[in-house]
Parts: sequence; C-alpha cells; structure tokens
Amino acid sequence: CGIVAYIGHREAYPVILKGLKRLEYRGYDSAGIALLNSGLKVYKKKGKVAKLEESLQGKDLHASIGIGHTRWATHGEPSDRNAHPHLSSSGRFAMIHNGIIENYAQLKQDLISKGYVFHSDTDTEVLLNFIEDIQKNNNCILEEAVRIALKRVIGAYVIVLIDQENPDTLIAARKGSPLVIGVGKNEHFLASDASPIIEYTKEVVYVNDYEVAIIKPDELILKNLGNERQTPFITKLDMEL
Ligand code: GLU
Repeated sequence: CGIVAYIGHREAYPVILKGLKRLEYRGYDSAGIALLNSGLKVYKKKGKVAKLEESLQGKDLHASIGIGHTRWATHGEPSDRNAHPHLSSSGRFAMIHNGIIENYAQLKQDLISKGYVFHSDTDTEVLLNFIEDIQKNNNCILEEAVRIALKRVIGAYVIVLIDQENPDTLIAARKGSPLVIGVGKNEHFLASDASPIIEYTKEVVYVNDYEVAIIKPDELILKNLGNERQTPFITKLDMEL
C-alpha cells in the first residue's frame, strides 16, 4: 500500500503512475488516481497498476495536480468501489488514505443519521465525509476541517486531499504512517517513501505525526493540529536511483 501525489508544472498523471509502480513492492490489491483539471476525475480499479493504466488508454488525463493510491484492504473487500481515491458526498473533495480509522463505526453512524450516504465499505470514506461535514458546518477552509477532524480520530493514517474549489493546494496529514514530501522548483512530490521522488529532487521533508501539510507548487506549510506553524526540516537524500 502506498500514496503518491503531485502539484506543480508537470503533467501529474505520468509522475503519479510511475510513482505507484515504484511503490508496488509494498504489496496492494487495487490502485487509483484522481486528477483535477476543469473537473475532479477519479479512476480506480481492483488489481495491478498496469491494469489501471490500460483502462485509461486514450483518456484526457491532462492535469497538474493529482493523487494516487495503492490499497491494501482493511475495511471492505478489494473491489473497484472500495478502491481509493474516494469522493466526498458533495463531490468537492477527493482523498487517499493508508492506514486504519479505528473509531470509524461510531463516526459512520453519526453521519448516516445526518443523511450521509456511503458508496464504499471503507473507513476512509467515513473520515472523508466527517471532514466534509465539519467543513460545511463551520464554513471553514479544508485545512481547518482536517485539523478538527483529526483531533477526534483514533487510528493510523496518511491522507492526501484535493479540493475542487482550491485547485492550487494539496492538503496532507499523517499519524503513524509515513509521508515524504519532495521539494522541487515550483513543484512538490508526495509519497510513502522517497523512491517515487528521488528522480526529480533530492530535497525532502519528512512530515511528523500529527502534522498537517498545506502544499502549493511554490509553498510548503506545516502546522500541528493546534494550528501552530512548524518549521519544515529539509533533508538531502544521498541515495541514487
Ligand atoms: N483502511 C483503508 C481501506 O481499507 C486503507 C487501506 C490501506 O492502507 O491501503 O480502504
């Protein structure tokens, strides 16, 4: 299981696809990609990354922001509908997640009683709609909704979100699952480990537990869940491809 994301001036799809292939060694049962261009498009499939790639032949995949995922199912069988990315109820947000949300059942009950309808059996879709519900109720920006939600979540996660209404920003967070951010010139690369990043940049930031990253092409901000800025510590990779 792994995550890859890109924001910058390149085509996101080839960067993400190649990154997912580099993470294949971690093992997975499904793969998926979300790309934001004029709309937010999600493509996902049970099976190998190559199968996903094949199903996308001939599609217009032009975008400079995107997220990609390989899934190791924990909640819900391996299937197209349980594969990531997931879309929020309104369709505004797309999210990928590695890890487990332990208190998802209670959160799901609360959301169902508010009228939310679920299209997968994953704990991930529960967290995503929980974030969307907070965003709507507080009429706040996504980063704030993510911080509020994560204070109430028990479990391990790395998450990356795209907001259709803010096409120049990725939001990411982690606790207990790894997240590396490659810092390039007017571009950022996110991944579970450095292997998808190393060919583009040697400068990386390892995000700490309970940190939220706000990532634009030319800016990387880290905050803790209390909304305090954290200094990103840039590490120089010395590994070769
Ligand atoms: N718990 C999530 C799911 O079952 C994420 C699994 C993973 O880490 O890939 O969909």
